[in-house]
Amino acid sequence: MNLTHPYLDPDGDKLREECGVFGVIGSTEAAAITALGLHALQHRGQEACGIVSGDGRDFFARRGLGHVAQVFSDQQLLAELPGHMASGHVRYSTTGGQGLRNVQPLHADLARGGFSIAHNGNISNAGQLRRQLVEKGAIFQSSSDTEVIIHLIATSRYPTLLDRFVDALRMVEGAYSLICMTPKRMIACRDPLGIRPLVMGRLGPKDNGAVVFASETVALDVVGATFEREIEPGEVVEVRQDGRMSSHRPFGVHGPRPCIFEHVYFSRPDSLFAGRSVYEARKAIGAQLALECPTDADLVVPVPDSGVPAAIGYSQQSGVPFELGIIRSHYVGRTFIQPSDGARHSGVKRKHNANRALVEGKRIVLIDDSIVRGTTSMKIVEMMRDAGAREVHFRVASPPTAHSCFYGVDTPERSKLLAARMDLEPMREFIKADSLAFISINGLYRAVDGIERDAAAPRFCDACFTGDYPTSLTDLAERTQSEAQLSFDKVA
Ligand code: AMP
Repeated sequence: MNLTHPYLDPDGDKLREECGVFGVIGSTEAAAITALGLHALQHRGQEACGIVSGDGRDFFARRGLGHVAQVFSDQQLLAELPGHMASGHVRYSTTGGQGLRNVQPLHADLARGGFSIAHNGNISNAGQLRRQLVEKGAIFQSSSDTEVIIHLIATSRYPTLLDRFVDALRMVEGAYSLICMTPKRMIACRDPLGIRPLVMGRLGPKDNGAVVFASETVALDVVGATFEREIEPGEVVEVRQDGRMSSHRPFGVHGPRPCIFEHVYFSRPDSLFAGRSVYEARKAIGAQLALECPTDADLVVPVPDSGVPAAIGYSQQSGVPFELGIIRSHYVGRTFIQPSDGARHSGVKRKHNANRALVEGKRIVLIDDSIVRGTTSMKIVEMMRDAGAREVHFRVASPPTAHSCFYGVDTPERSKLLAARMDLEPMREFIKADSLAFISINGLYRAVDGIERDAAAPRFCDACFTGDYPTSLTDLAERTQSEAQLSFDKVA
């Protein structure tokens, strides 16, 4: 156990998380609406979920391990979450950290009353801040980086809650989209670079025009709210019980850097992200991929579901017919979230099956959104060959994922990323394809943004592809330093 590892707490819990957040204020059905909203965000985290509601005086909470439909299956449970406002969270963390204590929203009693917080993103100096707070006497209840924010608010010297909140966030680096509640207010906030998404909408008159916040617009659609706008990078929006709203920009103006991987993989295709339909962006990425990496093939076959829109774009651009050469079982979880490599392998087989009648004797071009470890691609290529495909070409709708994400998308350690370990040709050999090609970073920008990447001022966070991290990474730097010290000690 390495206590200096920034993403591990002393119990070996990993702090990095993928998540979705939702909140509503001004409706008598706040908890039920939140459950529905979380259900629409389930793809952002399947391990645990929670809802905290408020009636203007007290908070009521329910959290559980598992999917939203399991944890909030019973109407009675929702009746135990009264009040006109509620916020919720879906969460997925990799290994460890799976106990209830890390399930959000977190809430605490502060000097000026209750405070709850739901966080999507990752704080890249949480390790350092936590150590400083513990040295001053703070007692942490969870291993979540989010709890650091609560302690920073609790110890801030500013008089008002909003000032304390801003003071706390000024000490934090990394990515955060937050939905917080005090007894009388909901506060939604996005980090100064807007790395993780957060949108605002409104319910109709039947629901008193209640204000809704969510990670993705799909959650607004599902609860029947109208999309109003994105919360801007660095914006803090405060909504009072009576519906009065105010917006603050306490962090100055920065060039936004929304996460480009939301367009590639993470968001649902029926959401809007950074002003663009995710589905349209994925199709455009596929079309660009066809221009950059054409293939002489009989069929374009998507790796379902993540490769489908890009494969449609590839097929339309290239004129090679689109066919479902792989059928996906909808009763198996995402392969990525299995706990060990062994389980992941069997997960791929349970999840995907070749459509043999279609594939046999054909030259196939497979399209997927990304290659991370390479496990999925290797199995899928093998499956196509077993089903009698004559040639199997692999085209990837994102550049090689060669760097870890420290902002809330779970990419594994760098050493486990295929593209960090190998060049293109060894990668092709590893997945055993006849050819392998990735879209270029400029091509990806062209597809999602209309123009190529400006290296001096990129419009997205693309660190997983370029290694260009838009914030400092204090915990990582400390770890690197302590590892360097460790190897120095060994030599000595
Ligand atoms: P791998 O087998 O590790 O190469 O996984 C690649 C597959 O995982 C691709 O088909 C992606 O659709 C999917 N994927 C990529 N990034 C993530 C992520 N952060 N969480 C879950 N799945 C992912």
